[in-house]
Amino acid sequence: MVDAYSPQMNLIAGRWQPAEEERKIPVECPSNGEPFSSIAQSTETDIDHAVAAARQSFERGSWRRLTATERGRLLICLADKVDHHFETLAHLEAQDTGKPLTQARADITATARYFEFYGGAADKLHGEVIPYLNGFHVQSLREPLGVTAHIIPWNYPAQMFGRTLAPSLAMGNAVVLKPAEEASMTPLYLAKLAMEVGFPEGTINVVTGHGDVAGAALSKHPDIDFISFTGSPEVGSEVQAAAAKNHVDCTLELGGKSPQIVFEDADLDSALAAIVRAVIQNGGQTCSAGSRALVQKSIFDDVIKILGESFSNLMAAPHDEDRDLGPLITATQKNRVEKYLQSTDAKKVAQGQILDLAPTSGHYVAPMLYGPVSRDDPLAREEIFGPVLSCLPFDDETDAIELANNTEYGLVSGVWTLDGSRQVRMAKALRCGQVFINCYGAGGGIELPFGGVGKSGHGREKGFEALREFTTLKTIVQKHD
Ligand code: NAP
Ligand code: MG
Repeated sequence: MVDAYSPQMNLIAGRWQPAEEERKIPVECPSNGEPFSSIAQSTETDIDHAVAAARQSFERGSWRRLTATERGRLLICLADKVDHHFETLAHLEAQDTGKPLTQARADITATARYFEFYGGAADKLHGEVIPYLNGFHVQSLREPLGVTAHIIPWNYPAQMFGRTLAPSLAMGNAVVLKPAEEASMTPLYLAKLAMEVGFPEGTINVVTGHGDVAGAALSKHPDIDFISFTGSPEVGSEVQAAAAKNHVDCTLELGGKSPQIVFEDADLDSALAAIVRAVIQNGGQTCSAGSRALVQKSIFDDVIKILGESFSNLMAAPHDEDRDLGPLITATQKNRVEKYLQSTDAKKVAQGQILDLAPTSGHYVAPMLYGPVSRDDPLAREEIFGPVLSCLPFDDETDAIELANNTEYGLVSGVWTLDGSRQVRMAKALRCGQVFINCYGAGGGIELPFGGVGKSGHGREKGFEALREFTTLKTIVQKHD
């Protein structure tokens, strides 16, 4: 029997149950800083129970032994269910994270799409037959890993639920999710919908709580088989160390300092509109935000002027006002961004606005445009995770490549030029996981393998690559006459 869903409960073994110590974490709305709910503050014991439930479910086989087609169908049922609860989820996401409703709606569309895509893909990942010696038949078989652990951040909680869980479930694993303490509401609601469509008990487990307690307990747990982590590079290192101790693999998605590279022959109308959108989306709290505009010297002043006009018109406002951007997630994130702005020597070109009626208790930061920013300024090198665009001039193609790659990160790049050969040269020379040419897809593209190099992490999410991450490959050698 499924006990009544409530955001104060964890989902373990198909039942909604309070954290063992029955302590709670208040849930606040970033638009006004006011609490509107609370979630369970779980401990190591709750994580133990969730991992045990997932293990029992996996061993029982009620999920992994379904045919791949049957698993896929249930994922697609969840996609439909998400569509039926579209407005409820979008409003909850907007209230919990402060993002404008239009953005929240786009996120819920993507969440449903993850379950639709991986539902359709579940029976389309095949093993291989490998040519070997005469008298042998050799095949490789993709099998589920077992129990997969998922730790996600607060910037896109609903989308991340779909992005990390759908491919793992499609491959037959049982999952334990620890959402971010600042944004657990939609992951819990999505888990409720998953129970309603009939996922077998223990297949999906969700435990809320603090990262250094519940998150750490999950990543160190000796009975998990894989960790999918998205968040900061610092915590990513700890998660990887924990995975290494237990000899399990992990994917790390750790953010970026992604360049938008604008050559003098670019179509500036489309380039600059896209560049503004890609750094303002979600208040700049996007791992793939295009937070550096690298602009060829010959057009630098013109570009700065046009971008400056756009930035002056941008408006930060409460989520339900549905303007260009909302507040940042917490007071801590706001202070972190403001510290960068106070300590930079770069020239401020333009500043956007904060709606007059926005509550002063909300965590608003006005959009900021800086340029020229020197190459060693923290604004040019570090992930700010706020609505801040740093513009840097470059001389020529060689200089553009050097500047673009002059970062510890390597997640996404945008290249704006009409020269076809240069498009290809640039795409090959850039050190990152995705290159967009005359377009930019911050956060988009469920079908497109996504992930980074260097401090941006490793492993790939999205597309068919994610399915491979959530499997182990078995080689079967059969001798015959
Ligand atoms: P974070 O601390 O790395 O949190 C990400 C997730 O890890 C959360 O679920 C968090 O739980 C959990 N966690 C925290 N400490 C842990 C530990 N010791 N062991 C296991 N899990 C742990 O990131 P953040 O504090 O939310 O954000 C800090 C910075 O990270 C941002 O400013 C940004 O630069 C970067 N970031 C990147 C992304 C991205 O998409 N790549 C997303 C968010 C943030 P709690 O929330 O409960 O602490
Ligand atoms: Mg919140």
